[in-house]
Amino acid sequence: MSRQVVAIVGRPNVGKSTLFNKLAGSKISIVEDTPGVTRDRIYADVDWLKYNFTMIDTGGIEPTTDDKMLSYMRKQAEIAIETANVIIFVVDIKTGLTDADYKVADMLRRAHKPVVLCVNKVDNRQKLQYDVFEFYNLGLGEPYAVSSAQSTGIGDMLDEVVAHFDEEDVDNEKSDIPRIAVIGKPNVGKSSLINKLLGEERVIVSDIAGTTRDAIDTVVKYDGNEYIFVDTAGLRRKNKIEKEGLERYSIIRTVTAIENADIVVLLIDAIEGITEQDAKIAGIAHERGKGAIIAVNKWDAIEKNDKTMYKYLNDVDTTLSYMTYAPKIFISALTGLRIKRLFENIDIVIQNHALRVSTGVLNDVLYDATAMNQPPSDKGKRLKLYYITQVSIKPPTFIIFVNDKSLMHFSYKRYIENRIRESFGFMGTPIHFIIRERK
Ligand code: GDP
Ligand code: GDP
Repeated sequence: MSRQVVAIVGRPNVGKSTLFNKLAGSKISIVEDTPGVTRDRIYADVDWLKYNFTMIDTGGIEPTTDDKMLSYMRKQAEIAIETANVIIFVVDIKTGLTDADYKVADMLRRAHKPVVLCVNKVDNRQKLQYDVFEFYNLGLGEPYAVSSAQSTGIGDMLDEVVAHFDEEDVDNEKSDIPRIAVIGKPNVGKSSLINKLLGEERVIVSDIAGTTRDAIDTVVKYDGNEYIFVDTAGLRRKNKIEKEGLERYSIIRTVTAIENADIVVLLIDAIEGITEQDAKIAGIAHERGKGAIIAVNKWDAIEKNDKTMYKYLNDVDTTLSYMTYAPKIFISALTGLRIKRLFENIDIVIQNHALRVSTGVLNDVLYDATAMNQPPSDKGKRLKLYYITQVSIKPPTFIIFVNDKSLMHFSYKRYIENRIRESFGFMGTPIHFIIRERK
C-alpha cells in the first residue's frame, strides 16, 4: 500500500534532470491533463521490474553563486531524507568530487537512509572505469557508473534502488485501517486541524508497532472507528523548512503524503478563498485516484450571510471542476466546528473509494444509458458499448468493451460516468474507465 518514494539529489549540472526524464519516460505525460501539475515536473511514476514507484526531483531553483551552493544542497538533502525511502545521489565524473559532494555525502550518511551513488556522464565506460573508483571516497558504498545522456548503466543502478525497498511496506495490505492525509497549502490550518483532532475528547490516539512509518503516522480512534492520519509528524511539531514556505518542498511533502493515503482532506482557506495553488494540490490527489473531501477551514473567521456558503461552493466547483465528486464542508480547526461531520464524511468517502458494483447491475445501467442517449457516430459508424465490468477499487475502475475506441468521445464517457454516479453514488471518489475494443 504505501508506495515507495525515490528522491534524486545532486549539485546543479550533474545531470539530475536528464536522469529524471529518462527514468520517467512517457509516464510524465500522465499528469498533463491536470492543471498546473506538470509545469514544474517535481515528480513522476517509474516502472522497474515488478515495481512502480514515485520519483521526486529535489532540485529547484539553482543558486547562481557558489556561496549559496551549500545551503541549497543541504535543503535538497533534507527534503530527500524526510520524504524518500531511497535516495539517488548524483555526482559528475567530468567535474570529479567537489567539496559540496563530500558535505552532502556526510549528511546522507548520518540520516541512515539507503543511498545509491550514481556517477553520471560516464559516456565511455572503458576509458573511465578507473575514474569511477574515486567516488568510493564518499563513503556511500559502490558507485554506479551511468550515462544518462546515453541511457547506459541505468538498469544496474535501478536494481540497486529497488533492492532497498521495504518489501513489507511495498505489499502491505496488513492493515485495513483507512489512511487519510490532511493536505493544503502552507498556513491553511493543517497542523491546527491535526492537533485539534488529536485533542478531541472522543479521540484516542494510539501507536502501531512494527512499521517503518510509525514515526510519521498517527492512529486515531473516533466513535469506535480507527483511522490512520499519515505524515503527521511534521504537522504536530511544525518543522522549520515548512515554515520557510518553500513551495517545492511543500509540494513534495504533499505528494508523499498523498501516495501514502487512501483519501485526502483538502483544506481551503476561507479567508483567502480558493486559489491556483489549491487547484494544483487538489490535482495531485485527483490524478493519483484518491478519495477527497474538501474542507473550507477558518469558517469562524469570516463574516457570513445566507449567501456566503453558496458562493464558496460555487467558487470551489469552478476552480476544481474536475473534482465535483468531492463533498464540501465548512469547518474551523480553531473552534472544532463540524469535526463530527468531517469524520462522517471521511467514513462515507472511504466506503465509496472501495465500493464494488456487481457486473449484472452495472450492465443494466449501461443498457439504460445507451437506450436513453444514443452513442455518437462518425462517418456512418456508430459507437457500440457491449459490456462493462468493474476491475478494481481504490479508486473504482471499470472496463468498457466497445466496437471502436476512437468513437468513444470524452463527452459520452462523461455521460456514462454521470449515469453510474447517479445509480451508485461514489461521492468523494474519482472513478476510472478503461476502454477496450472487442471486434
Ligand atoms: P541538473 O542541473 O543536475 O538537472 O543537470 P541537467 O540534467 O540539466 O544536465 C546538465 C548538463 O549535463 C546538460 O548539458 C546535459 O546535457 C549534460 N548531461 C547530463 N547527463 C549527461 C551524460 O550522461 N553525459 C554527458 N556527456 N552529459 C550529460
Ligand atoms: P499549516 O501551515 O497548514 O499547518 O497551518 P497552521 O495550522 O499552522 O495554521 C496557520 C495559521 O492559521 C495559524 O495562525 C492558525 O492559528 C490559523 N488557523 C488555523 N486554523 C484556523 C481556523 O479554523 N480559524 C482561524 N481563525 N484560524 C485558524
